Amino acid sequence: MENTLVCPSCGGKGMSLFRRLILSPGAPGICQTCGKKIGISYTAILCLVPFLAALYFAQYLNSTLAFLAGTFGTAAMFVICLSFPLKEK
Ligand SMILES: [Zn+2]
Repeated sequence: MENTLVCPSCGGKGMSLFRRLILSPGAPGICQTCGKKIGISYTAILCLVPFLAALYFAQYLNSTLAFLAGTFGTAAMFVICLSFPLKEK
């Protein structure tokens, strides 16, 4: 999981884990090491699918199951997002 934070331009640490988690395709970040723009591709938007599915199905579940669905949907979203490598923007 460490190399998900590596800058594709300089090979140094591109950004913090928190910054990486809130990175969106339309809003690239700046590499902490070299200052170049780095981000994720637009296909990374697919990581929203488990989160949105959990939101959708939560209305049909009782509160405990809805909470669990939301928790797992959010966790799956972050795991999938982190699996997309950083690239230069
Ligand atoms: Zn860099």
